[in-house]
Amino acid sequence: MKEELGILIKAQYPLIHLVTPEEERAEAEISRIASNSKEHRKRIYVWTVTHGIVEYDQPRQVTQHNTVSPESALEWVVRQKESAIYIFKDLHPFLDGAVVTRWLRDAIASFKGTDKLIILMSPILQVPIELEKEVVVLDYPLPDLQELNQVLSSQLQRSRGQRLETEAREKLLKAALGLTKDEAEKVYRKAYLKSNQLSESEVDIVLSEKKQLIRRNGILDYIEEDETLNSIGGLEELKLWLRQRSNAFTERAREYGLPQPKGMLILGVPGCGKSLIAKTTSRLWGLPLLRLDMGRVYDGSMVGRSEANLRNALKTAESISPVILFIDELDKAFAGGAGSGDSDGGTSSRIFGSFLTWMQEKTSPVFVMATANRVERLPGEFLRKGRFDEIFFVDLPTLAERQDIFRIHLGKRRPETTRFDLEQLAKVSDGFSGAEIEQAIIAAMYDAFAQDREFTQLDIIAAIKSTLPLSRTMTEQVSALRDWARQRARPASASVAEYQRLEF
Ligand code: ATP
Repeated sequence: MKEELGILIKAQYPLIHLVTPEEERAEAEISRIASNSKEHRKRIYVWTVTHGIVEYDQPRQVTQHNTVSPESALEWVVRQKESAIYIFKDLHPFLDGAVVTRWLRDAIASFKGTDKLIILMSPILQVPIELEKEVVVLDYPLPDLQELNQVLSSQLQRSRGQRLETEAREKLLKAALGLTKDEAEKVYRKAYLKSNQLSESEVDIVLSEKKQLIRRNGILDYIEEDETLNSIGGLEELKLWLRQRSNAFTERAREYGLPQPKGMLILGVPGCGKSLIAKTTSRLWGLPLLRLDMGRVYDGSMVGRSEANLRNALKTAESISPVILFIDELDKAFAGGAGSGDSDGGTSSRIFGSFLTWMQEKTSPVFVMATANRVERLPGEFLRKGRFDEIFFVDLPTLAERQDIFRIHLGKRRPETTRFDLEQLAKVSDGFSGAEIEQAIIAAMYDAFAQDREFTQLDIIAAIKSTLPLSRTMTEQVSALRDWARQRARPASASVAEYQRLEF
């Protein structure tokens, strides 16, 4: 992406929109590009609404005559003869007005045959429709390992010239991926100050700082899960699929000629372990798990804000890759995204479009793990072949699976489970989801606890009998989902025949 910026500048694209929160870093890169090639050596001017136009990196920051207002700044730019790059920082709020947009268009038109160009720089992407055809948008990437290495090296120099083993260095660098340069500087400094050294033992400090910073952006969550695949009952097909891909993101898999897995969609009845599967995969594959909260992506406070949120979140996920990006309830997140969207000025359609494009074009190892309960609300584009590597359907657990789920959940709460007749429990809980089985055990425990005694088989049966499972309250929805999934999705459970026989 950085190379692309250089190419666009050299190719004299008149208007580039560089989306980044890292102004200083991006300016330094533009300056490097501008001074690198002799024939394209250009001066750089920077406009802000606070200072007007000043020349970049000059010791005395003199404002060019009367250029604080965007109109006068653009007029000044048009009048200049010399070859130059004009960076406009945060011009987007002014592009709401027709006059500034018109000035900008006039300026670009006047650049023909000159060696001038404008770079709009802001943390969010916001382009008025009049400029859509004239602007090239570039997302400035977060620092890569090489840049982070420079940051780490300067911190080490300040830390009494401390030396680092290659392996420890690599771990410290990887731990900071996904941070801006400023954030990485702060995190390394803090880690150093905490333990008076920077070594492999500080990797955890860097990671936990990174988790906090990622959480602060409010859209991505770092999820840590202690459970393993063993705490999921049944779903053997799905587990096998995941186990076979445990090393799918390694160099060895690439050398073998395997493509990088793109993602999977888990459709299913509520409470049957879809989210749990997604979370435990992170442990199985040894990859970090980020949850993308689509509800928080939508932000009506400003036009373009939602799109910017999504872009930033995806950019962060890519910079941490290989990573698993977990999107729970994809059906809710993108309901109506494919067509309607009128109610919110088309934001949901645009968000949906950007997400699909990203999924299609992404080259970095970000594995999308999405779950959905309601297939009729899911835009059809997600279900098309090739979008996900596989679409699994998680049905209500079979008899054997329910037995397994009872064993797991009772085993979590009591070391000794032989006093329970798991087969009987599984039989009486026909039509129950994993979540409902867990709840029945908890209800039984509460009952017994209130009577100051240990809970028994009969308490669990009583709890089961007094529960009306979702499969009965939502019979129609569940059967519709099953009918749909039988044709088009792969069953997550080993015994297809058994699940097909299942009736309630
Ligand atoms: P929803 O669609 O409502 O989000 P879900 O299918 O994602 O539901 P989970 O949130 O993963 O379901 O399940 C809720 C809880 O139920 C899990 O944390 C787990 O304790 C229990 N559970 C569900 N299915 C299973 C299972 N197959 N094995 C063990 N526990 C299960």
